[in-house]
Amino acid sequence: MPQPIFSRRVMLLAAGTAIGASAVGWDLFAPDLSATAAGTYLRPCGSVPISSSWQGHKNRNPPSGEPGTDYAVITGTQIQAAANGVIVDRKDSTTTATGRYLALRTDDGNYIRYLHLQSSTVPLGARVTRGQVIAYSGASGFGSETGYGPHVHVSLWIGGTPLQLGFTNSVDFENYVEGGPYQPPPEDPVPLHKSTKYTWNVVIPHNSWMRIPVAPGSIWLAESSAAVKETGDLTIYLSATGVTKGFQVRVLAQSLNSSGAVVSTSAQPVLEIPATSATTAGSATFGEYSLPYFLSGPLRLYAQIRALNAGIKVHQVLVKKNYWQS
Ligand SMILES: [Zn+2]
Repeated sequence: MPQPIFSRRVMLLAAGTAIGASAVGWDLFAPDLSATAAGTYLRPCGSVPISSSWQGHKNRNPPSGEPGTDYAVITGTQIQAAANGVIVDRKDSTTTATGRYLALRTDDGNYIRYLHLQSSTVPLGARVTRGQVIAYSGASGFGSETGYGPHVHVSLWIGGTPLQLGFTNSVDFENYVEGGPYQPPPEDPVPLHKSTKYTWNVVIPHNSWMRIPVAPGSIWLAESSAAVKETGDLTIYLSATGVTKGFQVRVLAQSLNSSGAVVSTSAQPVLEIPATSATTAGSATFGEYSLPYFLSGPLRLYAQIRALNAGIKVHQVLVKKNYWQS
């Protein structure tokens, strides 16, 4: 499972003083909870998708009798103990909604159940260590090996047994796992978009590079500074006539010093746009050059064109870019 970027735990840590029992709702059940629980438990099968969350179990109609987190794994997958502790309950028949299960009383005073097992590998009363293989996953339940689709259901109670606290009063195991609860990475925000189109009508010099204006009087495709980074992709569309051999397009990156003077220039790969049979008949050749980019620090980009035969005239220049500034 990828490290969450903005996990609830990280947000709580960032909030600083908000950390504590009330921040994650433990106080109802666990006045004496050991502080080591949050962020230390091991997921049962490592980095696997979650097929149903604790909240998903709560939201069912009717809600699950034992809300937990479902980890999607094939039958026979090793299940590792979340923490050091003792096996305090074990059921080896497929009956009822739980199917086979194991219960682990962790040394920090909490209680975890692993449901729908194919088999358990540790006896009742066994002392287990965090990461030890204690069972194999299955789909058992309702008297069948296939009462469900294959998965591991993990339920967690804080500071007591399910009989003491109530089976429906489990908490979200994902809030207590190492690395914090899984959350998909945030989507990129909607990019900014810029598009300029104009008629250039310039004859390109044969065999020497010439700057392509983005718009009349403007050549910069993208710029960044010490304060503002820019990520994006840009595409330059050109239409030209007189192309009997071809023309080339490239983008250059200028690096500037603090007073704005150019200290270095690096050329990006050259794209060659060859003549086509249509262009030799006198109609336009279209060229398209695309570049994804990330600019950080005082930098700016501009484009150049070079004709591979004499008499090439560029009629229209269209530049489009999608970009994010940060
Ligand atoms: Zn479940």
